[in-house]
Amino acid sequence: MDLPPEVFAHHSHRLSDWIATYLREVGEYDVLSGVTPGAIRAQLPKSPPAAAESLDDIIADIDRVVMPGATHWNHPGFLAYFANTASVPGILGEMVTAALNLNGMLWRTSPVATELEQVVTDWLRQLFGMGDGWFGMITDTASISTMYALAAARERDPALGIRQRGMAGRSDLPRLRIYCSEHAHSSVDKAAMTLGLGLENVVHVACDADFRLRPEMLHRAIQADRAQGFRPLAVVATAGTTSMTSVDPIGDIATICQRESLWLHVDGAYGGAAMAVPEMRPLFAGLEKADSLVVNPHKWLFTPMDCSVLFIRHPTVLRRAFSLVAEYLTTSEGEDAINYMDYGLQLGRRFRALKLWMVIRAFGSDGIAERIRHHCRLAQTFAGWVRTAGNGWAVCAPVPFSTVCFRHVPAGETIEDEIASHNALIMTRVNESGDVFISHTKLGDQYVLRVAIGNLRTSEATIARAWDLLRQAAS
Ligand SMILES: *Cc1c(COP(=O)(O)O)cnc(C)c1O
Repeated sequence: MDLPPEVFAHHSHRLSDWIATYLREVGEYDVLSGVTPGAIRAQLPKSPPAAAESLDDIIADIDRVVMPGATHWNHPGFLAYFANTASVPGILGEMVTAALNLNGMLWRTSPVATELEQVVTDWLRQLFGMGDGWFGMITDTASISTMYALAAARERDPALGIRQRGMAGRSDLPRLRIYCSEHAHSSVDKAAMTLGLGLENVVHVACDADFRLRPEMLHRAIQADRAQGFRPLAVVATAGTTSMTSVDPIGDIATICQRESLWLHVDGAYGGAAMAVPEMRPLFAGLEKADSLVVNPHKWLFTPMDCSVLFIRHPTVLRRAFSLVAEYLTTSEGEDAINYMDYGLQLGRRFRALKLWMVIRAFGSDGIAERIRHHCRLAQTFAGWVRTAGNGWAVCAPVPFSTVCFRHVPAGETIEDEIASHNALIMTRVNESGDVFISHTKLGDQYVLRVAIGNLRTSEATIARAWDLLRQAAS
């Protein structure tokens, strides 16, 4: 028997109070966990308990064991990687998802899981100002969404026969090639590893001075590959690269893809959320000609981990790539009832649509746009401080969204390694404060620092504190 519902009621009240307190006071924790590697493991029993433990004891360990080992992604000072938010409506959605435990593998295994996923991804399409004709599906991460998109690209020409015959040992199969910019996310390479395309067959095309893929270099790479007998398959354009949030020229790339009959996948894992802001949509011009797009609501749309949305023009191709129906899963519903298990690798599927539905409703499209605008304004403010500071401070890349790449060069210093260690030291000192957490990246051979604004609690006071800490650390 499960524990009785009264026990749930008692402890869930306690825990929801605990969560409310956490959300109120999260800014008072050190953003970064201070534990040393292995310290948490060392505190815990090596083996599971034979006898049942009380929920009181178990819950007490959340404060004792879990919290010291947590890095607080919901902290206003979390400015590293891409900051995100588990918002209140999103957390409430996760609670219900856990309680219902729906498995949306088939329409009939929970009609609402399937239909809400269809509705909420279509809401998102409209919220982004995208036209009709997109099929939406929720996955766990952008890495999986991109892998699915490239699996569909590989399946588009059935004559390749990969679904049935595989790729190994076939003299009739040319090398299949994928193109993306040198700043594309590693998930493109991982997809190529997973799909059997091979890392060698991901062509990283050179970028311009603003870190955007150069269409003429793409064109040249495709021609060179064709001349060698390779088979160009797909291009991944990035709208918001992970390092510096540059946006590839989607329209020009789409023109090449149409001419060459290549699949165009757009990776907007982070940046795509900015389409919620009408005046930012010109950055995405040409998206209407893409074949697929990924955006992560768990990055910049205030939805708790995990939630990624794959939009695709050709659901029948995706279905061909993945559908394989065991006898016990056959159903008799008609065309109106899709089974999401047919569109991806996993059979069982979490009910992720619920939290996204609750987030969109609780903020509204206007509220979402206003929050994203606010983050972009904060980034511009921060970039302005860095630009006008002089004294060796510089912004190192354009700031189209809410992320700033910058660094400090000590007077007279020209050796790149020295500048890198100086900035690494600045980062270490700033992060030791516990107030903010920033990260770094490389732009070409330049080591730069990154401030990425994406948490709903981040305010001008937060970035002012970061800027103070940075200047203290640099001097
Ligand atoms: C974060 C990111 C990804 C990977 O996202 P996951 O959901 O963690 O797999 C892919 N592409 C871009 C551009 C990203 O910023």
